[in-house]
Amino acid sequence: MKALVKEKAGPGLTLMDVAKPEVGHNDVLIRIKKTAICGTDIHIWKWDEWAAKTVPVGMHVGHEYVGEIVAMGEEVRGFSLGDRVSGEGHVTCGYCRNCRAGRRHLCRNTFGIGVNRPGAFAEFLALPAVNAFKIADNISDDLAAIFDPYGNATHTALSFNLVGEDVLITGAGPIGIMAVAIAKHVGARHVVITDVNDYRLDLAKKMGATRAVNVASDSLTDVMKELGMVEGFDVGLEMSGVPTAFNTMLEVMNHGGKVALLGIPPGNTAIDWNNVIFKGLEIKGIYGREMFETWYKMVAMLQSGLNLSPILTHQFAIKDYVEGFKTMLSGQSGKVILNWP
Ligand code: NAD
Ligand code: ZN
Repeated sequence: MKALVKEKAGPGLTLMDVAKPEVGHNDVLIRIKKTAICGTDIHIWKWDEWAAKTVPVGMHVGHEYVGEIVAMGEEVRGFSLGDRVSGEGHVTCGYCRNCRAGRRHLCRNTFGIGVNRPGAFAEFLALPAVNAFKIADNISDDLAAIFDPYGNATHTALSFNLVGEDVLITGAGPIGIMAVAIAKHVGARHVVITDVNDYRLDLAKKMGATRAVNVASDSLTDVMKELGMVEGFDVGLEMSGVPTAFNTMLEVMNHGGKVALLGIPPGNTAIDWNNVIFKGLEIKGIYGREMFETWYKMVAMLQSGLNLSPILTHQFAIKDYVEGFKTMLSGQSGKVILNWP
């Protein structure tokens, strides 16, 4: 089968023939229809320090997808051939304390599809059936293909009660932009998002942001004054991984505010701890999605009117994957979909 492989240690990916995956007793085999490019795939494409020490050379990557079940191991229950599925990209151990307690998102032995084991940028993906998720008929293939990052946005945004709250989102990448729509959908009052990229800030406005602030040219505190926010934000969702954005967030939080951290900053990032301590902030780290509470909520929000379609900005055939990656690298895109024949 064809797959997008990290053929050699260095930038880029190669569309080439690899062996079709074997289907274990507990696996489903998914014929891939659509995939999407994640920020993680961009790290892998560029072959930065993280990618070089994490991703095995010779492996095919990718973890955002939708497809159809075409084969199943004999132990699999609850799925049928022909089911349209996406899947949870974190494959968990099943034996650690958190897994055994049903908190699989906190598994200490997680493997990532397309990061530590073969991925979804391929004609076929073999996946433990427990990780597969059936997609309802009224959800499009394009949206199903981005359930993984939509899940990051959902898990982060729903970490705290947003009803009637003023929310700051730092980072208008695809995940931050989806978090805007989610926060508005569940009843937040003001949702302010920051970035330094006007294309993405415009997308965030289309998704319902009260204000989209380019912090390279405009003042966040001025915007807060215009909105009559004298005390600060109630909830902060850090989705940039940029240390200055995180520090600004801590400064503009109200006392007793709640902050969820999805963006991945450099490990030694410093903050002013006085903001955390004297404001009594609550800070929560986020990794992945809750299995599978987040997934059920994603479906329910789409079925109750959440509109994510503005985030789907580009489509390419898989043979044109280089164009797809260049589009994502340019920063002038929302989600980029790669279609498999
Ligand atoms: P992205 O890189 O597309 O988005 C980050 C955005 O931050 C970009 O649009 C960038 O322009 C913006 N930015 C840069 N400087 C800024 C500043 N000073 N203030 C505000 N914004 C600024 O990433 P994404 O795919 O949307 O993911 C968001 C973050 O979440 C990334 O850091 C990613 O690594 C991380 N992530 C974490 C998990 C997890 O499980 N914890 C999962 C997926 C992604
Ligand atoms: Zn575990």
